[in-house]
Amino acid sequence: MNAFDFESLPARVVFGPHALARLPREVEQLGAKRALVLSTPQQRALAERIAGLLGERSAGIFPHAVMHVPVEVARCACDEADRLGADCVVAAGGGSTIGLGKAIALHSSLPILAVPTTYAGSEMTPIYGLTEAGHKKTGRDRRVLPRTVIYDPTLTLDLPPMMSVTSGFNAIAHAVEALYAEGSNPVTAMMAEEGIRALADGMPAISEHQRDLEGRSDCLYGAWLCGSVLGTTGMAVHHKLCHVLGGTWNLPHAETHTIVLPHAVAYNYAAAPEAMKRIERAMRTPNAATGIFDLMKRLNAPLSLQEIGMRCDDLDRAASLVMEAPYYNPRSTTREGILCLLDGAFFGRRP
Ligand code: NAD
Repeated sequence: MNAFDFESLPARVVFGPHALARLPREVEQLGAKRALVLSTPQQRALAERIAGLLGERSAGIFPHAVMHVPVEVARCACDEADRLGADCVVAAGGGSTIGLGKAIALHSSLPILAVPTTYAGSEMTPIYGLTEAGHKKTGRDRRVLPRTVIYDPTLTLDLPPMMSVTSGFNAIAHAVEALYAEGSNPVTAMMAEEGIRALADGMPAISEHQRDLEGRSDCLYGAWLCGSVLGTTGMAVHHKLCHVLGGTWNLPHAETHTIVLPHAVAYNYAAAPEAMKRIERAMRTPNAATGIFDLMKRLNAPLSLQEIGMRCDDLDRAASLVMEAPYYNPRSTTREGILCLLDGAFFGRRP
């Protein structure tokens, strides 16, 4: 076994159907008396429900979270938290809402209690992102790591089927890269493999029956593990490509992760044999790259970048942007290799 460093990030996790009922007690345990509840406009009813549960411990709701945390929205949310004298933030929703909570914590160091309702995994990471004038800036800061996370699978029962599938592959992508990124170690590898297994079991179940609670629980449990390993290890070529494609062409986050993943895995196949073995064992497939692609196809996920709005003429520029500042990757990042990867993802070819 190679030498390694391992760091676990401090977060309290409360998991289970109807775990949301425990929220008031969890807010109290954070020592908070005035929680500001965040959501997107679409999930306002959830924010109101949470504020109702909190009673006097609710300072109010801010149901204005949007994708990619624009600085203007972050400023408004910070002002609202100051105005209401909030001493805690409850972020209920997907990565966009949790991202807004992180923006507030970065400004004021308020503790975050996250209630994730997608599989994006942001609740387990100290990574934040803010968008200013169309440019997304990301960073790591311990202040933005939620202190408590409540995973209640019943809150995911209405996550639309296609979003469930692409969000699930977004989570799997975190675990896949954690297996071969810098900072990978035997403990995170174990968690990554189990996270992939749980999602690969849960996703077909919820594709068949959207409200299958067992499948929803498997997926949310997998998302927790995948988010955890993203938070403690690094990222590699897959995440670099998705950041370039999302940041420059504004392609949808979870769909982009889904489409690129089998091609990034194929790119690294020979360079990361131990990681591939773990993915294959977790997904019960003889080949990690084709196994992921075949599962995507079976679950009717989008397969090609062209179907989500990428233009063929832009592939060259995307490769150049990746080459400007590549992330660590087990196989060296070459322009020809990246162009070939992008070409496969653009046309949705089986890798
Ligand atoms: P999202 O948060 O943008 O949610 C998409 C839509 O789905 C929203 O309208 C939301 O209200 C709705 N929704 C969420 N849960 C629902 C549910 N259970 N039922 C019905 N509707 C629901 O999507 P996302 O994919 O979770 O997050 C994407 C964002 O998160 C991106 O900006 C990405 O960069 C960020 N992210 C950050 C990290 C990190 O570590 N910082 C990790 C992963 C993703």
